[in-house]
Amino acid sequence: MLSLVTGAKTAILLKKTEPVKNCLTQEIQTLLQEMVETMRQAGGVGLAAPQIGKSIRLAVAEVDGKIFYLINPEITLYSQEKTICEEGCLSLPGDFFPILRSEEVTVRYQNEKGLPKKMRATKLLAVVIQHEVDHLDGILIVDRYKKQQRKNIFLKRKAL
Ligand SMILES: [Zn+2]
Repeated sequence: MLSLVTGAKTAILLKKTEPVKNCLTQEIQTLLQEMVETMRQAGGVGLAAPQIGKSIRLAVAEVDGKIFYLINPEITLYSQEKTICEEGCLSLPGDFFPILRSEEVTVRYQNEKGLPKKMRATKLLAVVIQHEVDHLDGILIVDRYKKQQRKNIFLKRKAL
């Protein structure tokens, strides 16, 4: 199991990652397998590279028994319909935040074989993908939650 990087102020978790140039190298292929093992052992449904100390644009997820290898993922479409989920994070053990997300997203990425993919995700998978892509952009749920709260306060003030 790879060791997990934790902490809301940890620099690598707050930094935007670098794209993966070639995912077919032995190094990346091994890393992908180790990340899946680590995610499972930690009881998570997703894991992004910064969480194991690598500032590169890749993540893994496991939803409904299916493993997703998301290399260089970019969300290209967010649904207008939103949902609020109580989210946790392996990098913030014990902390949960209600986060507003799109119910559906379209994501472009490369799979573990380096093939370009485009997927429409809904429900839990959509939330997991948004959470992992946030990690790759250096955004933690605690910061997203704070931003959300500020926005709420602003909207309330505006309504007065
Ligand atoms: Zn997380």
